[in-house]
Amino acid sequence: MKFHVMTLFPDIINNVMKESIMGRAVKSGYISIDAVNIRDFAGNKHNSVDDYPYGGGAGMVMQAEPIYNCYKYICERIRAQGSNEDAVEGTEQFKMPRLIYVTPQGKTFNQKLAREYSKEEELIFLCGRYEGIDERVLELIVTDYVSVGDYVLTGGELPALVMIDAISRLVPGVLGNGASAGKESFSGSLLEYPQYTRPENWHGKEVPPVLTSGNHKLIAQWCRRQSVIRTADRRPDLIKGADLTEEEQQLVKKILMKGSDVNEIY
Ligand code: SAM
Repeated sequence: MKFHVMTLFPDIINNVMKESIMGRAVKSGYISIDAVNIRDFAGNKHNSVDDYPYGGGAGMVMQAEPIYNCYKYICERIRAQGSNEDAVEGTEQFKMPRLIYVTPQGKTFNQKLAREYSKEEELIFLCGRYEGIDERVLELIVTDYVSVGDYVLTGGELPALVMIDAISRLVPGVLGNGASAGKESFSGSLLEYPQYTRPENWHGKEVPPVLTSGNHKLIAQWCRRQSVIRTADRRPDLIKGADLTEEEQQLVKKILMKGSDVNEIY
């Protein structure tokens, strides 16, 4: 899977994508990252890419032309590298990847969207800075407006990295063990159960005995019950979508009842 990132700070993207699992996935060729500096397309001797907003107001706005030229450069590269080399931009044969503008004004990113994007072969991210981007270029090139949550950050690089990380770990091969992403929180409607590792006794706190019993059936039952309890307790909005047995529904009711002590149920 190929990611193209339009940014004023390519080092933020490249430095994160060098490390850990993402770094290994790039090295092994499961994903590739192409961070393109919008400033290289400024087209003026001061390399400036922002200007004052029409109508007044605080801060600066990123100009349309450098972003458009950066986009055209990426399109040209994709076209040249792709199988449809002979296709002409703007014709039906030339299908550009989705272009995600990361913005607090978009729909909120979640695991479902990560799954959807992980099926694409290529994606382009556009990272804003300052007070945002001239609306006219957004109207022309953006296909998806996506936010990481209801708060405002100084730039789009961290949101783009959050999304690239979540998408990449769903690309086959990236996690090494295909099962790892399968049972996690948000893979269904339940959060994951609590995890423990050695030592068995830490500061007087024991690992739940069932986990050291070796009885796989009982362990699976315990994990399922803990997932149900945790989701009802921490994310009651999610539990509504879960497929629960009669017994689990009773358990959830008890947790959702005001005043019930969830620690006793755990
Ligand atoms: N003035 C804009 C507004 O009120 O909607 C916020 C601009 S913000 C300071 C600068 C850039 O950071 C945005 O263009 C966007 O790319 C990025 N950004 C900030 N918060 C974000 C969020 N919650 N999700 C995704 N991107 C965000």
